[in-house]
Amino acid sequence: MNKYAVIGNPIHHSLSPTIHAQFAKQIGLSISYEKILAPLDGFTVTVKNFVSAGALGFNITVPFKVEAYDLVDECTSNANIASSVNTIKVENGALYGENTDGIGLVNDLCNNLQQLIKGKDILILGAGGTTQGILLPLLECQPERILVANRTKVKSLKLASKYSKYGKVCGFGLNQIKAKPVDIIINATSASLDGKMPEIPSGVAAGALCYDLMYGRQTPFMQWARANSALEVTDGLGMLVEQAASAFAFWHGITPETKQVIKSLRETID
Ligand code: NDP
Repeated sequence: MNKYAVIGNPIHHSLSPTIHAQFAKQIGLSISYEKILAPLDGFTVTVKNFVSAGALGFNITVPFKVEAYDLVDECTSNANIASSVNTIKVENGALYGENTDGIGLVNDLCNNLQQLIKGKDILILGAGGTTQGILLPLLECQPERILVANRTKVKSLKLASKYSKYGKVCGFGLNQIKAKPVDIIINATSASLDGKMPEIPSGVAAGALCYDLMYGRQTPFMQWARANSALEVTDGLGMLVEQAASAFAFWHGITPETKQVIKSLRETID
C-alpha cells in the first residue's frame, strides 16, 4: 500500500484523509492516508518513524510547518521563500518539501469564489507557518497592500521586512489595527481552533470579504464578520481542498478535480 498521512497537533479535525481518498479514487489509485498526532516536542521523531514504516509522502499542519522546513533535505523555491513546508515527498529516504497553502488560497479566491486580488487592500491576522506560505502567492496577484497583524508583533515585522521586496507589506501588532475598512480580511491565526476570535476593531470588517482559513459554517471569526457588516464571509474549506490538490499533484503528477470534492465535503460539514 502507498503510505501517506497528515501530521499535526491537534489532528482529530483533519479532513485530509477524506480528500485524498476522493482524489485517489478519481484516478483509480490505491493509497492509505492516515492522521498522525505528533507530540508538540516530538515532530522529528514522528516523521522518522513514519518514514521508516515506508511512507511515500505526508502533509504537515499546525504547528509544525516551520519545523518541517528545517527538517527537509531539499525543497522547491516556493517553500524556500516561505521557509515553511506543508507537503513532503519521500524518495530514497530523502525528504523533499513543498508549500501548497498559497496556491490553494489563491485558487480558491480567484477560481472558486471569483474574487479579484489585484489592487485590493488585504489584512492578514496571524504570522505563523501558514501566513509565511500564503504571502508570496498573494503578492504575485498584485494587491495594493498587505497588512500583517500578529499577537506577537515581532513576527509580523519580520515577515513584512522579508516580503517587502515582492510588494507592499506592513507588519503590526494585533492591538494596533485601526477601525478603517479594508477589502479582504484573512484570518490566519489558529485562534478558531480554540473557539476564539482575536480582539480587533469591528469597523475594519465593514464591506470586506472575510475569509477564515479554518473551516466550518460558524467559526468565531465568521460570526464576528457577519455581526460587523462584512460584504461576504467564507471559511477555508475551498483552500483546504485546493492545497490538497496541489499536494496530490506534487506526489502523483496529476492534478485532481476539486469542485465536486468541495461540494461533497460541504454537505458533510454544514
Ligand atoms: P501556527 O501555529 O504556525 O501559527 C498560529 C498563529 O495564530 C500565530 O500567528 C499565533 O500568534 C496566532 N494565534 C494563535 N492563537 C491566537 C489567539 N488566541 N489570538 C490571536 N492570535 C493567535 O499555525 P498555522 O499558521 O499553520 O495555521 C493557522 C490557521 O490556519 C489554523 O487555524 C489552521 O487550521 C489554518 N489553516 C487552514 C488551511 C486550509 O487549507 N484551510 C491550511 C493551513 C492552515 P503568535 O505568533 O502570537 O503565537
